[in-house]
Amino acid sequence: MTTVLKNVFGPYKACAPLSNGNLIVTCSSAQQVKTLLSCKNLSNGNKTVEVETSSLKPVGAKGAIYNVALEISTDELVEGLAGQKVTFVKRFSFRCKESSEIRDSKSVFLQFSTADLPAEVKLGYLLFRVKQYIPKPLRCFKCNSFGHVASYCRGRERCSNCGGEDKYNECNADTAKCPNCGGNHSANDKVCPRYQRETEILN
Ligand SMILES: [Zn+2]
Ligand SMILES: [Zn+2]
Ligand SMILES: [Zn+2]
Repeated sequence: MTTVLKNVFGPYKACAPLSNGNLIVTCSSAQQVKTLLSCKNLSNGNKTVEVETSSLKPVGAKGAIYNVALEISTDELVEGLAGQKVTFVKRFSFRCKESSEIRDSKSVFLQFSTADLPAEVKLGYLLFRVKQYIPKPLRCFKCNSFGHVASYCRGRERCSNCGGEDKYNECNADTAKCPNCGGNHSANDKVCPRYQRETEILN
């Protein structure tokens, strides 16, 4: 089978059988991926077999490092992390509770090329512990529903803490009531079943 693949598609990086009988092929170029995905059958001269192909999501691990001084620019981060299997770097931002401004945070997102998350990365002389990053679902700041942002919101304004019509930074409610599920937690609490479902979709 592997010689047939090589003859048809040219040299590829790797090919391994999966337990379900499928073959996983690591291509050596984007063009090869395209050719392989459009393939409907394979022939080795006297025998032709029908095949079904699909692509897999990239498997690189997602991580985050914390307490990274704000003076360090993204370029410096990219440069400093070169050679540590980091393919993408992005500093997280957050909305300031008092002024509603968007500000840079001291946490930095790291996309790795490998499936395994390294325990730490080096930045010059500094060592940062790497934690697994679980993406947060997109939540509207206005109505607190998932899947859209406030500028596209068609819902009415709801408090993320109590689900009422007040603003969360002026909220006086004694107990939290989630605007999405009615449970006694705020809309951005990880215990919320709606939040968990949205997070699952992202992973
Ligand atoms: Zn909304
Ligand atoms: Zn409230
Ligand atoms: Zn909830």
